Amino acid sequence: MGAAGVVGATSRTARAASNKQFKGYADSNAVLHDMTRCIGCRRCEAACNTVNELPAPEQPFDDLKVMEAWRRTTARTYTVVNQFFPDGDTLPPVFVKKQCNHCLEPACASACFVKAFTKTPEGAVIYNADVCVGCRYCMVACPFDIPAYEYHKALDPKIMKCTMCHPRILEGKLPGCVEACPTEALVYGKRDELIRVARDRIHTFPDRYLDHIYGEHEMGGTSWLYLSGAPFEALGLREDLGNKAAGEYTSGALGAVPIVIGLWPVLLTGIYAINKRKEKIAAEERAAAVSEAVDHAEVQAEGRLKAALEKAEQDKAAAIEREFKKALEAEAKARLASGGSETGDGEKA
Ligand code: SF4
Ligand code: SF4
Repeated sequence: MGAAGVVGATSRTARAASNKQFKGYADSNAVLHDMTRCIGCRRCEAACNTVNELPAPEQPFDDLKVMEAWRRTTARTYTVVNQFFPDGDTLPPVFVKKQCNHCLEPACASACFVKAFTKTPEGAVIYNADVCVGCRYCMVACPFDIPAYEYHKALDPKIMKCTMCHPRILEGKLPGCVEACPTEALVYGKRDELIRVARDRIHTFPDRYLDHIYGEHEMGGTSWLYLSGAPFEALGLREDLGNKAAGEYTSGALGAVPIVIGLWPVLLTGIYAINKRKEKIAAEERAAAVSEAVDHAEVQAEGRLKAALEKAEQDKAAAIEREFKKALEAEAKARLASGGSETGDGEKA
């Protein structure tokens, strides 16, 4: 890319950062993955590993048995090729390369409140680890399950994903995977042009392809486009996403990338206020419950005291009565015992 291209790219990046609803760059690049041409050789995986200086895989790239189990991208593997048998185990498999789809309006960027993701005019969605705070909202937001986290790193873990070889693109080179593909199952070029190529293939070979370019409209469009002869859903590509970009779903709250910075403190303040209100209500409810319990206890205590006093009165009365009775009996006995002498004394007297 010449100096003029770089200048243009910089000014367009600034434009993207100030728009509420950014609709993607008109002249951006993309990759067309024609799955009917893919032979599952994994050379794209190997090239990606080399270009990005990633650790060696557990199983070497010429071991195709690794595809017997479905794989996802990880912090050490930015792209994987999976095999599917949409027509049953006896027919040849369909190979599907999985990586970041470099959405035109990326959900990862919409979710990131520190703006660590940027959709570049060239087509790549790139990530700035320097501003990332590790909240991992991008992982939750991505409908294609792409951003991976360096869980194995205790210090300064980052989000890892395919960069579409953006540094190579700026140097005028092809993405590593595209360059390595021996069958041209991967083609890099202007997105609009690739859509025309894809339509032409569908039109020329209607028995070979479904009349659908996956990524042309899904989630508002992506910079990775797919052609297939089998239903995309049977190849692990979600068909339930709809055609709206992530920013449109969240425009009322998180909105497009640029307004997130402004909105996020408001949102957090709102969440804080809601939590505080909940705490206040809980405290008031607690106080009311305690007051009720105290009232109840007071009433009960009063009742118990009254009952105890009544019982004490009754006991006291009974005791007095008992003592009075005892005294009367003792008096009667004494009279009986001294009855004769008393009479004699009386007679004597
Ligand atoms: S595929 Fe996921 S990680 Fe890649 S740009 Fe789209 S939302 Fe972001
Ligand atoms: S290099 Fe090309 S043919 Fe080989 S697995 Fe990757 S996309 Fe398929």
